[in-house]
Amino acid sequence: MSDLIPGVLDLLVCPACRSQLTWDYEASELVCTGRSCGLAYPVRGGIPILVIDEARAPHGS
Ligand SMILES: [Zn+2]
Repeated sequence: MSDLIPGVLDLLVCPACRSQLTWDYEASELVCTGRSCGLAYPVRGGIPILVIDEARAPHGS
């Protein structure tokens, strides 16, 4: 299991709002902690896809 290296997450911020991201282990997503944002970014092959167009809206599904 090649999870994200602890510490790397601290360097990543949401490209939409610059808030910190938190790792959702079950969903394999990086979720923005910004209250007014909350976008969830996919992680593919251990690489976070920090692209707003690829992100899932929090209240979408
Ligand atoms: Zn955000």
